[in-house]
Amino acid sequence: KRRNPFEYEFHQAVEEIFNSLVPVLEKHPKYIEQGILERIVEPERAITFRVPWVDDSGKIQVNRGFRIQFNSAIGPYKGGLRFHPSVNASIIKFLGFEQILKNSLTGQPIGGAKGGSDFDPKGKSDAEVMRFCQSFMQELYRHIGPDTDVPAGDIGVGGREIGYLFGMYKKLRGNFEPGVLTGKGLNYGGSLARTEATGYGTVYFVEEMLKDKGMSFEGSTVVVSGSGNVAIYAIEKAQQLGAKVVACSDSNGYIYDEDGIKLETVKKLKEVERKRIYEYVDYHPRAQYFEGCSAIWSIPCDIALPCATQNEIDEAAAKLLVANGVKAVGEGANMPSTLEAVDVFLNNEILFAPGKAANAGGVAVSALEMAQNSARLAWSFEKVDRKLHEIMVNIYRNSINAAEEYGFPGNLVVGANIAGFVKVADVMIAQGLI
Ligand code: NDP
Repeated sequence: KRRNPFEYEFHQAVEEIFNSLVPVLEKHPKYIEQGILERIVEPERAITFRVPWVDDSGKIQVNRGFRIQFNSAIGPYKGGLRFHPSVNASIIKFLGFEQILKNSLTGQPIGGAKGGSDFDPKGKSDAEVMRFCQSFMQELYRHIGPDTDVPAGDIGVGGREIGYLFGMYKKLRGNFEPGVLTGKGLNYGGSLARTEATGYGTVYFVEEMLKDKGMSFEGSTVVVSGSGNVAIYAIEKAQQLGAKVVACSDSNGYIYDEDGIKLETVKKLKEVERKRIYEYVDYHPRAQYFEGCSAIWSIPCDIALPCATQNEIDEAAAKLLVANGVKAVGEGANMPSTLEAVDVFLNNEILFAPGKAANAGGVAVSALEMAQNSARLAWSFEKVDRKLHEIMVNIYRNSINAAEEYGFPGNLVVGANIAGFVKVADVMIAQGLI
């Protein structure tokens, strides 16, 4: 904390991970002796840069760009770019740090990174977003490459932004290198099922966790926060598995539809028209809109899938969910539950799927996109989806087995952290002090 003052989210992520590593450190003192903990919390490289651009009124705007290349032990740096006004060094560092273990869990050869900017794409014209992305890439391009560092999307960065970023990268390099970014459009090297991957993967993971206890999505009531990329496809897969999803949200408020959310309307509003979620009630008058997004957790449900942002479930919200009979919580977002909220879930024996494991499907399919780009091939949707499903089942199995092995049966927080950590730590030792 002394070396990284005011980086609260980063401290939170490190605390959560280090606490759960205690059993592995006791069993294998080599990780302490080799200085793995000190090394792993220090990014290999952190880049901060100016992003100047001109808005539609001709005024010069300046944002700050970040890329944290955290750990390349097991493969090239890999992790998303987030464009949101709340972005700062702490948020990018917490995301990059978590990404190391998440990427390790996928079983794919990818290191950990994260980046982004405090630019807010909301309310900006396409031309403004394009100028911003071009300026951002004019600096970033010198630090990335298909075998070096491969960024992707995250909050505020979807297909449109990846397209503009890729266009500028191609121009600056003078090479068509599809493997430099993932989440690309299907006509220039993108993978089928990448758009769906994080949401579908989260539901596949939760399905596996439920199955172990003789439960399923069939007939359950589900609340999903957010209405972005992860939320939309978590809703879609949960509905396909027979669940009734009754609520979703954006940063202004949430909608409750007791008949079940009509996903086509949410997709039209959010993916096509870039509108606010309150407009849903214009199409479905029986649904209700409530201002303020955090009260979504007061809705009784069997399964809660937080898919919006970090720290959206605090201790009080967790207690409310438990009091209302929640049976399982699956994190589609990164660190959506505070440390106190996680304790509430674990102490009440709620099935809890931590984001690091549950939302790893997005980056896993990004790695499959890189593989397709290297081979100059495009796989079918069914093939990618089948591989995604296998990967999520494996992550669940590896995490639950690690939890059992180290004396915390059923605790997926401990299991995922240990399973992800051991592989990276062993490789760091094998590669020497670098
Ligand atoms: P999107 O930008 O597509 O959607 C984000 C959603 O969350 C929007 O509905 C947004 O509302 C809401 N939201 C964002 N910030 C806040 C906030 N501060 N308070 C309340 N609501 C907020 O992002 P994604 O769906 O891609 O990402 C969601 C989460 O999933 C993030 O934690 C991300 O890191 C994580 N994730 C994403 C992956 C991916 O493949 N996309 C992979 C793994 C994890 P509004 O429109 O009002 O801003």
